[in-house]
Amino acid sequence: MFSLEGKTALVTGASGGIGSAIAYALARQGARLALSGSNPEKLRIFREQLNTEIGGDHVEITCDLSNTTQVEELIPATLDTFGTLDILVNNAGITRDNLALRMKDEEWDQVIRINLEAAFRLMRAAARPMMKARKGRIVSITSVVGATGNPGQMNYAAAKAGLTGMSKALAAELASRNVTVNCVAPGFIRTAMTEALSDDQKAAIDQRIPMGRMGEGAEIGAAVAYLASDEAAYVTGQTLHVNGGMAMLG
Ligand code: NAP
Repeated sequence: MFSLEGKTALVTGASGGIGSAIAYALARQGARLALSGSNPEKLRIFREQLNTEIGGDHVEITCDLSNTTQVEELIPATLDTFGTLDILVNNAGITRDNLALRMKDEEWDQVIRINLEAAFRLMRAAARPMMKARKGRIVSITSVVGATGNPGQMNYAAAKAGLTGMSKALAAELASRNVTVNCVAPGFIRTAMTEALSDDQKAAIDQRIPMGRMGEGAEIGAAVAYLASDEAAYVTGQTLHVNGGMAMLG
């Protein structure tokens, strides 16, 4: 079940906390991966680690998602490498938090450009070959914050809610071609970022989560692997919330 044997996948933000867990999950199910990020050295180290631990012939493709030209080149570069693209995972994302009254234009622009606009460009570029192939999976990593809001994150919440709406619109357009478009919305996930919090801060977060703990990257990876699989063929335009019950959303 949930085999991705013989499939190709592009994962953005693949060297990050959640992206690397998604890459492991897809690679374990048999997919061949194009790992993308803006830092070539981080990507190279991660690719070598993945190839050593899981095996396979994964490749890295450097792309700065804040650079429109580079974004437009990413899907063509993946197709040049693999010949096909079965799965696109829009995972890369940044935060530039600030309270509304202090939020700078650059903080708004950067988050919208990387978290939302780059995903739009990649989805638009991936749609054509997937429609032609009459199959495909697009999975975007949003956030519980896109559904609930969060102080200090007007830019981030807007981008994540936008990604959700954009995915539903594309899902409706591509459904007849067997291309599904879904989102996975993590709550608090244990990554380098959350590990840097103090014990008191972590305890306060755990208290807000009915399961009493943060999630693991692998728990996001498993959700993505499911949505990318043949078994999820009838699921489209949906968001799978993975948040330990922190927000029980439809
Ligand atoms: P992370 O560890 O900071 O990783 C972010 C990834 O995005 C990195 O691989 C980074 O690669 C890439 N990235 C950043 N700027 C980029 C750019 N300009 N061009 C290309 N790639 C860029 O973050 P994470 O926690 O794994 O988050 C992954 C996704 O999950 C994000 O979309 C985030 O919003 C979402 N999320 C996270 C949590 C959480 O608790 N961690 C909760 C909800 C949602 P380079 O370093 O190579 O640029």
